[in-house]
Amino acid sequence: AKETGRDSLKLFSSEMAEKTRQKLAGTEDMRRALRENEFLLHFQPQLNQRSAKIVGVEALVRWQYPTRGLISPAEFIPLAEDSGLIVLLGRWVLREACRQCRRWLADAEPGFRVSVNVSARQFKERTIVADVEAALSDAGLSPQNLELEITESLIMQDLPLAIELMNELAAMGVTLSIDDFGTGYSSLAALKRFPVSKLKIDKSFIADIPRDADSMALTSAIITIARSLGLQIVAEGVETEAQVKFLLESGCDHIQGYLVSRPLPPAELSMFINGSTSD
Ligand code: C2E
Ligand code: CA
Ligand code: CA
Ligand code: CA
Repeated sequence: AKETGRDSLKLFSSEMAEKTRQKLAGTEDMRRALRENEFLLHFQPQLNQRSAKIVGVEALVRWQYPTRGLISPAEFIPLAEDSGLIVLLGRWVLREACRQCRRWLADAEPGFRVSVNVSARQFKERTIVADVEAALSDAGLSPQNLELEITESLIMQDLPLAIELMNELAAMGVTLSIDDFGTGYSSLAALKRFPVSKLKIDKSFIADIPRDADSMALTSAIITIARSLGLQIVAEGVETEAQVKFLLESGCDHIQGYLVSRPLPPAELSMFINGSTSD
């Protein structure tokens, strides 16, 4: 038994070493990709249900890997967060999203916004405020045209720091929204303490509509309370007409999902934005 124990320990530590090696290689690869400009942004429209107008787009990063094709963020964001490279990648995303938004403004509805996902690391290392300022001034974009998507778990990791930085960002005029709402631990009551003006209801709730009565009850309760707190609501992951009908009846402001459009490269989305204003 002693022998087995030692062997499995050996196996365990060699597995750990292999994992560490892979992480280092992955991190190095990502550094190279940043230098060689292999990251790109796709944009997914957010639609105002009542006016049927595009009110904004969410920027979603992808990795155009030379030999492996387009890689999804689910595959590399965790490593980027782990290694700290998310700070550099997040800076690039902010800059690129603001630049692209600036190009769309002439054709877009007034108040059009680009929304950008933010990682906990960008808060923890306190780079977010300076990065947002730089991206806006670099692109010549007004803070009113930028929204930051922040998850509940980011906020809860270090509540005082999150509130301090969110206040700074809100004071600049940037819109803050809570992403994946309903999956974390913050209560609706806690939202009153945050300078956020928007909630994105997580797509796991939307996916269960209309099949699951509990998800429907939760969704409409979230919408009712959020509205009474003066928050705007976006439903993400909307895929069916039945979901749209329910959300509209529940008073949801904006929808985002495959039913309206998948995330698209900027050139394809441009037509969407022009198309929606020309009629
Ligand atoms: P998220 O912020 O919750 O983004 C929404 C995800 O849902 C996107 O996946 C989007 O393509 C997908 N989606 C949109 N509509 C539908 C729908 O109707 N049905 C379903 N099933 N899915 C839909 P994506 O692009 O693969 O991004 C995954 C996650 O990666 C994002 O989740 C976000 O957490 C993270 N991410 C993406 N870009 C960035 C970034 O620039 N910075 C950071 N920190 N994270 C990012
Ligand atoms: Ca998001
Ligand atoms: Ca989300
Ligand atoms: Ca998510």
